[in-house]
Formats: sequence, C-alpha cells, structure tokens
Amino acid sequence: MSFRSLALILCPLIGYAAEAPKLRLPEEIRPVKYAADLTLIPGDTGFSGSIDIDVELTKPASVIWLNAIEIQIEKATIGSQNAAVEPGGSDFVGLRTEKPVPAGTARIHVTYKGKISEKSSAGIFQGLDGTTPYLFTQFESTDARRAFPCFDEPGFKTPWQLTLHIKKEHSAVSNTPPLSETDEPNGMKKVVFAPTRPLPSYLVAMAVGPFDFVDAGKAGKNAIPVRIVTPKGKANQAQYAAQVTATVIDRLEAYFGLPFPFEKCDNVAIPLTFGFGAMENAGMVTYAQTLILSDPAIDTEQRQRTYASVAAHELAHQWFGDLVTLAWWDDTWLNEAFATWTSEKIIAEWKPEWHSRLGDLNGKFGAMNEDSLVAARKIRQPIVTKDDISNAFDGITYQKGASVIRMFESWVGEKKFQAGVTAYLKRYSYKNARVSDFLDSIAATGQPQLTRAFSTYLEQPGFPLLSVKLNCSAAPSLSFSQKRYLPTGSTGNAAQVWQTPVCVRYQTPSGDRKECFLLDKPNAEYKLTQSAACPANLTANADAAGNYVTKYDPALLAKLLAGNFLNAAERMTLLNDLTSLLNAGEIGQGELLNAAAAFAKAPERQIVGLAQTSVSSTRQFVPDNLLPNYARFVRQTFGARALELGWAAKSGEDADTGLQRASIVPFVAAQGKEEKLVEEARRLTAEWLKTRKGIDANMVNPVLSTAAQFGDRALFDAMLAELDKTTDRQQRSQLIGAISVFREPALARAVLDMVIHSKLDVRESFFMMMGPLGARETQKLPFEFVKANYDELLKRLPEGGGFDARAFLPFVGGNVCDEAGRKEFVEFFEERVKPFTGGPHNYKEVLEAIRLCEAQKAARGADVAAFFANQ
Ligand SMILES: [Zn+2]
Repeated sequence: MSFRSLALILCPLIGYAAEAPKLRLPEEIRPVKYAADLTLIPGDTGFSGSIDIDVELTKPASVIWLNAIEIQIEKATIGSQNAAVEPGGSDFVGLRTEKPVPAGTARIHVTYKGKISEKSSAGIFQGLDGTTPYLFTQFESTDARRAFPCFDEPGFKTPWQLTLHIKKEHSAVSNTPPLSETDEPNGMKKVVFAPTRPLPSYLVAMAVGPFDFVDAGKAGKNAIPVRIVTPKGKANQAQYAAQVTATVIDRLEAYFGLPFPFEKCDNVAIPLTFGFGAMENAGMVTYAQTLILSDPAIDTEQRQRTYASVAAHELAHQWFGDLVTLAWWDDTWLNEAFATWTSEKIIAEWKPEWHSRLGDLNGKFGAMNEDSLVAARKIRQPIVTKDDISNAFDGITYQKGASVIRMFESWVGEKKFQAGVTAYLKRYSYKNARVSDFLDSIAATGQPQLTRAFSTYLEQPGFPLLSVKLNCSAAPSLSFSQKRYLPTGSTGNAAQVWQTPVCVRYQTPSGDRKECFLLDKPNAEYKLTQSAACPANLTANADAAGNYVTKYDPALLAKLLAGNFLNAAERMTLLNDLTSLLNAGEIGQGELLNAAAAFAKAPERQIVGLAQTSVSSTRQFVPDNLLPNYARFVRQTFGARALELGWAAKSGEDADTGLQRASIVPFVAAQGKEEKLVEEARRLTAEWLKTRKGIDANMVNPVLSTAAQFGDRALFDAMLAELDKTTDRQQRSQLIGAISVFREPALARAVLDMVIHSKLDVRESFFMMMGPLGARETQKLPFEFVKANYDELLKRLPEGGGFDARAFLPFVGGNVCDEAGRKEFVEFFEERVKPFTGGPHNYKEVLEAIRLCEAQKAARGADVAAFFANQ
C-alpha cells in the first residue's frame, strides 16, 4: 500500500530502518493495563481521545509498535520521553524515542483523533434510530485499533478502564458499571467506568445515546443485574428479551458450573449492523435491533426463537471466549464452535417443545456442503494473513465445529464431557488457552484417545464418507470403510482418514441397543456385542450425532427407508445422506426424489422442510421446457399440505403448524406456481401495504415475498413508497426483503440500481444485490451489475472491519454453471478481489462451486430431465 512504501523510501534518509510488523506485534512488549478517555458525540464524524498503556518490555526498544487504523496521533510520550510517530502501513503505528526504552515497565501516553464510521459497523460507528444518532462499537476481530492505538491481539488480556465524555442528556454503557458521573462545561458530563476484568481489546465495548433501559431482573448465583438497552421510546419492544435473558444465563451457569464471570449483563440493541448480528462483549452484549426488539403486537415465533438462540450463543461466550480467551485467531473455533454447540444444547434442554435439535441439523448440513469443497478451510486453519482471520468466521468454524464437538461429546458421555468443560474453564479463568489445553481437559475425564481423534477433525478439511455393511452370516458384525466425501467433479484426494467415533443404534428382540466404535483405519470390522441375532434395523449415525455421510448396503437402506425405526433426527440425516450420495454420483436422481416425496409426508415440519430443500436443489438442472413438470411435481408432493394450511393462521393451532406454514406455503406458491396461493398473497399484500393489517405476524415475510416474486411495476412502486415512509426497522427489513426478489428483469435491475443510486443505508441495501440470484429469470443480473458498476460500488460498500463487503462481491457468480460464464467470472474477479480482506478465499470457493455445478450438470442433466419428463 502506498503508505507503507512511502515509509520505506523515507527510512534510508533518516539513517535507520524500522520495519513495521506484518501481522503480529512483537512478543517482547506486552500491555498490562489500559486507561482510555474518549469524547463521544453521536452525529459527529470523528472523536478525540487519549490513552495510557502500561507495558512490560523484556528488552530495550527504540520503537514500540501498536495497532492503529485511521488514528491520527497528536502527541505521544513513553515515560518521560516524547515519542515520534513512525508510519506502519494500514494496521500499525510505531512510537520512536530518542533513547531506547529500557527493559521493565513503562507508560505510553497518546492523545489522538479517530473516525466515526457512518456506513460500516467497524470500530466506533453511528446507528440511526429514525433520525436520532447513537454510537456503538464492534471490535472483533481487528477493529479496536480504530478506537484506540493498542495491542490488538486476543492474547493480550488486561484490565481496561474507560472514561467517556458525553452530552448531559445521553447515557453511556460499557463493559462495567459506571463508578461516577460528573457534570462538565458545555452541556457535557464525564462518566468513569469501573476497571474491567482482564479483557482482550476485541471484547471492549461502548454505546452512547439517549437510551431507554429495561430491567430484566437478576441472574445467576451472584444475582447480577440484567438490562435490555433500547433506543429511546422502544422499551416496550424489549418485552420478550426481558423475559428470557436471565433464564438463559441461569441455565448456562448451571451447565458451566461457574458463576457468570462479569458483574452485570447489558444487552444493547443496535439499529443496523453489517457483517455481524450480535457480539459477545464482556458484560455488554450487542444485538442487531431486529433480533432483540419487536413490537409485541407483531412479534413472531421465529423472531423469539432466534433471539433465544442467539442470546444463548452470545452469553455462552461470556465463559467461552471472554472468561477464557483464545490465545490467537487460529483457535477461533474454541470461541465460536463452543458458543454454537452450547447454545444448541441449552435451547434443546430448556425448550424441548421447540425440537430445536432438528432445526440445528440444517446448519450442520450446510457446513458439510461447504466442507465438501477442496477450498474448504480446516476448523483450525493456520492464520498467516489478515485474510485468514476474517475467513475464520465461517460455517466450518461455527457449524462444523459445533457438530464435531457434539460427536465427541456423544462418544465421551455428556456428564464426563461437562466435567472436562468445567475443569477447563476453571483452570484458564481470565486467561488465554489453546486447543491442546481444552482437549487435554476433556481427555483427562477418562478418554485418553480423544486428543488425537479430535485433532483429525480439527487439522484436516472435509469429512468422511462411511460405507457400512451388516454381515449376518456368523455373529452379526459391521464392515466399515472410509474415504473423504467428494462431490462429482471434485479434484480432491479421497484418500483421507479420520478417527471417527461411530455410534450405531440397532434393533434387537429385547429392545434397541447403542454402541460406539472409534473407526481409525480406512477399513475395519466390528462385532455387535449386544445382539446374537441379526438386527432387523440399524443406523450407523445414532441420534444424528456423527459428522459424516453414511452409505448403507442396499438391503439395510431399503429397510431404513421403508420402516419407522429411525427417529426424526436420524431420518433427516438419512435424507441428507441421500442428497450427498446423489451429488457424488453414488445414487440416481430418482432415488433421492422418491425418498424426498416419501419424507414430505412426515409429521415433523423439519423433515418436510428438508424434503423441500432436496427437491429444490435439483431445480437448477431442470431444462426450461420441463419447468412446468417440476412445478407439477412440487404441487403433487407438497401441495395438499400447503393448501390445507393456507396463508392464514387458524385459532388454537400450535406453534409448529405456524412455522410449517411459513415454510411450505411460499414454497408451493413460488416453486409449484400454485395460482390460488399466489392470488391470495397478492390480495393480502395489497391490503397490508395500505393498513399493515390482515396478515398473521408470522407470515408477513412469506406473503410479501411471494407477491413480489410474481409482482409487477405497480406493486414494486407501492412497496418502495411504503419503504420511503417508514423508519420502523422491522417493517423496513420486511419490505427490503420483498423488494429484493421481484423476478421481472426490469424490476430486478431497478433493485440492483438502488444499491448505488438510492438514499438507503448501504448496510441495508447490500444484500438486495443477492436477491435476484434466487430466480432463473434474474440470476445473471447481479454479476452483470457488478461488472458494469464496479468502481462506483467499491466507493459505496462498507470497507474495513472483519467483514469487508467488497470481499463478498464474488458471490454474485454463485449461480454461474457453464464454461463461458466461469471464464468471465475468473477474468473479472481473480485479480480484483485480492486487495479485500477475505476476498481470495471467497473467490476460490465460488469458483470451485461453479466448476462442480458444471460437472453436476454434465453428470446429472439427462437423469434430471428423464425424471421430470415423466412427472
Ligand atoms: Zn459467536
């Protein structure tokens, strides 16, 4: 970058070279304590501040490097010496003293100015509620350096003391409670916060503005106060959050066996976020407003369940991440996979009636899909560049990580695993830890093979395809073979071996039996120890806990498909196995679709939902002339249930029925082109646009989106006009979601134009760019749009931060499925994506997905056409 090369040119002139770090700060200098003092005024474009950093040096240094982005240093001292500022490129700044700072302790003092971002959610940024500005922070992974010059790495854990100068009429929230508030001149006041427990910079947080505070009771053994913090006038929208948040904390505390590690828990609503939905700042969790708040009159089941699950994730981080922090970003999974796994566990136990374990499987299947790519990351990927830090926050880290933890928990046993978790958290409280610290803590509960076996899932990408054969000629046994699962067209090497705890469940005359084997070789045979007779039925993925795909011998598979031996989670796993096997060319199109049609009759909405996904995943290979047959197949398979449910909720029905309606009705309307449902969606939408009434709250998104997919210019204009009128975040998100999916190409083009030429906040409009990808008529438009408007787009998109929007542009090529399109994609993006954090990995994954799509089309096209020709 230009800044860096300028520094290199200047160095010879001043006689000595001082090279800025490339990625990590030197280990010889560590911070031990921070005290920061900031003046924060919502509506301003910048802020001023000063910071004292107490450091320890193991050897003398004439330059101390700090992380800083867009920080303008006014004055710096180290001890009694003035320090000169040494440019260090985009992420670093050096402080140079005339005499070297000796080994031992020293205090760095810096006064500076920084920027407040209006269009990204990185560092200190503005959020507008209506026209009222607020300030919030988002520092993970590498954006604390936009607020303070600091040692911005997770391994540097120290107490932070914050002092804020804010307007008298505002409130400030941070990680700790305020110690004092004193008036200052010019309508200002000073808020001094208590020093924090040792925290890494990425967990420090602040919020400033005219907030309302909702008391959400006390939680945990230490009766810590819990509050929901909302924009002014929105306290009534915090009802559900105020009801459940303390309960979530109580349940987490009970599981972890350690009290909530901080002195209070504020839960702060942010009007608009980009690149994150919620953040686990210690003692001050932030959430996108649409997650945590809702007008109770129009609140939905789905919104409440999502809040509960996200809250459980963020609050689990208070232990996994905040109390015990990863030593470096290569162990991001120790944070994210654990928070995901814990949230799933807590919700399943707390709300058994939600059957959340079934919904969780969709996250796991999605991660398996990503993990089937050769370009997939490992759960524990080495961090070589800043790109790697950004890329670490993906489905592999969160969902695959959680799935692998569950598999090993199921093998070790829940109680022992819990004991290992508690021991680990106790031992590393308020400190940092690495992968081996965790694995050893679990292995110590009595499963010494765990560390090695677990590592085979952490340190290599992909997952196994297990072939299973039941042998009953003598005492019953199972033959297993394993290889890496690879879809048709993959260039990957299948010869990979994992150490997999395989748990099987089988039917015997005296009841079902479960046993587990550690499969650690390419091929192995195990005797079934709990049955002398040949089991009538057997699943090789008991309770769906395993992170692998199973290929059963034909006799076993036929029995599993025909009978009702499998529980709901195992049935979903079987259907996903069949989809994976089809993608790998191991079974034919008809086998999957016939199974999906049978599963579509299941009483569990989650199984029906997965059957919908299995069917719709083949649509891309259906030739245009057979689309009517595809639609007929959808109607035949799912239509009766959809028509029976209709768009309107019936009084007295249960939550599951409502949730199924929101999934199957729009599916049959859109993909089955069920005219009756489309007509009704149009009528309901017209009424809703006028009155905001007439649609069950749970159904607003599905109804509006269905009407939009079949909508014309008049409806488009009507939706835009309403969007223009409302500042309500929930309604805006509903309208934007619908506007994004118009299929009329001229309207889809108009939507794309809005990303550049509208007054919409780009944090709202960015995802509109992906809307046209969902339909055949419009799927090429986003890529064309990006090509035609690239420079203009770069100027508009949120830059910087862990999530660089520009790095996500290659996803507009997600539906390319032919050689010419691929060449165009490569030509356009290969070089362009390189400068953007995380971009090269995104590009590689999309390119591989395009190649695989071409291969799938070649391999399956005729089979798909033959199947639908007969429907
Ligand atoms: Zn998380």
